Amino acid sequence: MSRIVYVNGAYLPEEEATVSIFDRGFLMADGVYEVTSVLGGKLIDFAGHAARLARSLSELQMAAPCDDEELLAIHRELVERNGIEDGMVYLQVTRGNPGDRDFAFPADDVAPTLVLFTQSKPGMAESPLAERGLKVISIPDVRWGRRDIKTVQLLYPSMGKMMAKAAGADDAWMVEEGAVTEGTSNNAYIVKDGTIITRHLSEEILHGITRAAVLRFAAEAQMQVEERPFTIEEAQAADEAFITSASMFVMPVVEIDGAAIGTGTPGPVARRLREIYLEESRAKAV
Ligand code: PMP
Repeated sequence: MSRIVYVNGAYLPEEEATVSIFDRGFLMADGVYEVTSVLGGKLIDFAGHAARLARSLSELQMAAPCDDEELLAIHRELVERNGIEDGMVYLQVTRGNPGDRDFAFPADDVAPTLVLFTQSKPGMAESPLAERGLKVISIPDVRWGRRDIKTVQLLYPSMGKMMAKAAGADDAWMVEEGAVTEGTSNNAYIVKDGTIITRHLSEEILHGITRAAVLRFAAEAQMQVEERPFTIEEAQAADEAFITSASMFVMPVVEIDGAAIGTGTPGPVARRLREIYLEESRAKAV
């Protein structure tokens, strides 16, 4: 059965869905996106993703394609039509098709392009990776300065994942001015003497929806949290490390640049936070 995707108001088999060659998402990476996880056929933290989408659009003076209620309805319809039990819904909004190539933003009458599709990942919450933990390498962060906007400019993160693969690792943590900013597609954390340390929010990192939820659960569980930059050396000397993202949830990190973290196995704080996150998220899923 062919996947049903959504493009500009229509539900179509993926082979029939098209976007113009003049679309600014294609020509200029002039677009933003969101990835919302699905567990048990329900959406995890949809409200958080919708709110961040609205912020990304507004920071780029891009029109919203529809309201949140309609967005939720489209997400649910795709989950339903594609029989998604566990997986993700990918959403992208671009500044649309002005009919030609020009650096200047088009006039207001050019409608944004809205595309959504599902990715099925049966059993994604029971990932064997969570038992083994990730190996990461460090790479310089050479991305642009507005990483708080979730744009589709993902070339450097893609290159980072390839650098990690070439080094026999699973992912890369990016470093700027001596401190870790974030992972290629996730937020980065270390744990030292029971305190969870993660970089503070700014324009330098994406404000992860999973990060917000995990820090909230950590506070509710009386865990200490410090939001500040940390170095690779500090991370290598930490008791534990982990990452968060909508598709990986909370995922332990067990090695950084070849140095084992703590015992070199997933630590108790990361394990506990993963459990709490999955439990609470499933309970609140829509
Ligand atoms: N940082 C970056 C650079 C990312 O690409 C992502 C995932 N899109 C995250 C952090 C994690 O964000 P979220 O928890 O909202 O998936």
